[in-house]
Amino acid sequence: MPYVGLGVYKMTDREEALQAIAKALEIGYRAIDTAALYNNEVEVGEAIRHSGIKRDEIFVTTKVWNNDQGYDETLRAFETSLKKLGLDYIDLYLTHWPVEDKFVETYRAIERLYEEKLIRVPGVSNHHAHHLEKIFAKANVLPMVDQIELHPYLSQEELRAFCKEHDIAVTAWSPLGRGKVLKDETISKIASSVGKTAAQVILRWHYQNDVITIPKSVTLNRIEENMQIFDFELTSEQMTQIDRVNKNERVGQNPDTFHFDF
Ligand code: NAD
Repeated sequence: MPYVGLGVYKMTDREEALQAIAKALEIGYRAIDTAALYNNEVEVGEAIRHSGIKRDEIFVTTKVWNNDQGYDETLRAFETSLKKLGLDYIDLYLTHWPVEDKFVETYRAIERLYEEKLIRVPGVSNHHAHHLEKIFAKANVLPMVDQIELHPYLSQEELRAFCKEHDIAVTAWSPLGRGKVLKDETISKIASSVGKTAAQVILRWHYQNDVITIPKSVTLNRIEENMQIFDFELTSEQMTQIDRVNKNERVGQNPDTFHFDF
């Protein structure tokens, strides 16, 4: 799974989405993160086909939305996503949020899709350790990925350690804190000292922590900027300085208090 992919949440303008995804693929992105909720699976599939890049070179993630959860419902939602994307398999399929009383069955359906080779990697999103433990008790194939909100203001050290212990790769959603962390003073200072932008420093911090990122942008130079993080290294002191800006502050919902009833 590539370390940097393009997140496409809120890319609902068709032309804008097609253009952003095409540009990303052209400059070397090989992973796209969408979801049934984002209402752009059709555009993601179209951009992939138009890119001329071989299907097996691109890593496509999509997710089952909350009101489609449960075993049979998830299998049906998967069929719909596959059709919209116009693909014959999906690389990574995720439970979008752990809907109470349903997420274990949802994951069991994802496990079946994996066994039937319709997905390459089974995973979850927004699962805390206690959700994962409930899945461990029922699953034969454990989730290989947990996609969680993670950025310097919400460093999730405990959950990252838990995932590492169980061989679960971590993907950071809102890796830039939805733009909020870009103005952080410590990060800005490090950025000027290494001659990179704040976004690049944050994405590099994730990378050196072995975390996959899916930054979102429709701005062409930012899409390019977010991929240029492999030509410099943060010192352990700089990594520690960034670790210390953590405030346990979310830009999104906490899975434990999220209201799923809509
Ligand atoms: P993000 O941290 O990627 O921030 C996006 C914001 O930062 C946008 O306003 C963008 O214009 C700006 N930005 C991006 N690159 C920049 C740069 N180089 N310089 C300055 N500004 C820049 O936040 P996000 O969009 O919330 O998250 C990224 C992706 O994560 C989404 O697109 C989606 O795919 C995924 N996501 C998943 C979940 C989930 O529940 N699993 C929830 C939210 C988002």
